[in-house]
Amino acid sequence: MATQIIIVDDDPIVGMLTLELLRDAGFTALLIQDSLKAQDAIKKEKPSLVVLDILMPGIDGLTLLHHLKSDPETKKTRAIVVSGKSFEAEKTRALQYGAEAFIEKPYDVESFAAQVAEILKTDGVEPGKIAPPSLPEPPPPPGELKITVWGCRSASSDVSPAMTRYGKRTSCVSIETSRHLIVFDAGSGISLLADSMMKDAKHKEIWLFLTHFHLDHVEGLAGLSCARDASFTLNISGASDPDKPLDEAVANAFGGELPACKIEIYEMMEKTYEVLPGVRMTAFYANHPGMTLGYVLQIAARKIVYCPDSEIYGEEATALQDYDEKLGGLCRDADLLFHDGRYTEEDYKINKSLGHSSFISAVDFAERNHIKQLVLVHQDDRYTDDDLDEMAKAAEARVARRGGTLRVSLGREDLIVSV
Ligand SMILES: [Zn+2]
Repeated sequence: MATQIIIVDDDPIVGMLTLELLRDAGFTALLIQDSLKAQDAIKKEKPSLVVLDILMPGIDGLTLLHHLKSDPETKKTRAIVVSGKSFEAEKTRALQYGAEAFIEKPYDVESFAAQVAEILKTDGVEPGKIAPPSLPEPPPPPGELKITVWGCRSASSDVSPAMTRYGKRTSCVSIETSRHLIVFDAGSGISLLADSMMKDAKHKEIWLFLTHFHLDHVEGLAGLSCARDASFTLNISGASDPDKPLDEAVANAFGGELPACKIEIYEMMEKTYEVLPGVRMTAFYANHPGMTLGYVLQIAARKIVYCPDSEIYGEEATALQDYDEKLGGLCRDADLLFHDGRYTEEDYKINKSLGHSSFISAVDFAERNHIKQLVLVHQDDRYTDDDLDEMAKAAEARVARRGGTLRVSLGREDLIVSV
């Protein structure tokens, strides 16, 4: 039977005790005493849970946990940290790195296995039963859309994505139907999308719509795994800059040379295109430095707007600044709007006229234009998870105070949005 739990503990007595407790409770478990061998064993055995000691020669449990959660192959494996080193700092780090629980040693032999069972229950793992195999998800049925945020920060950061709740990757949102995969922007988030595509092999073609060529919207192209596959097709749409034709800008984004896959390039202007049967895309110029597009997608009887780099003027608009009205006309009654909400109000004041909005003005704009759902994106990369939690709360409170019906949330990696 497949291994359900792997215990990594260098102490033979405690390790064996843990093993016996879990086996007695009916789990299939394995003890690894050499922490340096743990990561490979976990990849091979694919357990549902790992139990990690902290102080071990070789690699310590917290570093190991961090590695597991940063690796796409093992990041979904649940983890419990058990240690006699139970300072607040260790507990906090364990939870930050993605552990489900921190259990102090020596632990209560009566309740330990029950605690483990409780954690595994949510995955459908029970003693004596193996975890249900993780089959590739089927594509959404006809007429249904699967909308995923893969990245939405203003700049990539070297903080491991596993260490943050909102993520640190840059712009990429996908909209999947039963037949097509439409993608907005190719920031570093697109690597997550490519990995998931390569794994389940549902789509061999992407319809990619680029807003513009600032790094945070194209930096994912250079290392794009599926682009190295010659059987793959990448249809790339965007606007030409007066200084640089679109095909040249695309080649530059790939690092100078186009990759092995088939690439088609479509230049867009401010107008509506029937891009695929039943799929209409309206491109428009957004209020952002350089040639920048926003997109209105009409698909499966829904209207979805993607406009991640866009400065709404709000109440301070002058008579000559008619962008808010123009954008309002395009967005009105949309089912879903992804809009720039980069700054808090205070930070917006010192970053005015740089082409980004405060989240408050994006909320007010969405309400004024009867948008049903707003997902704020392009958050400043300097904001912490806690800062972003505050923003999300403030945005919801603003709508609630006025008794509005707008659903508002902050974008984050792996967010699935339903419309
Ligand atoms: Zn930009």
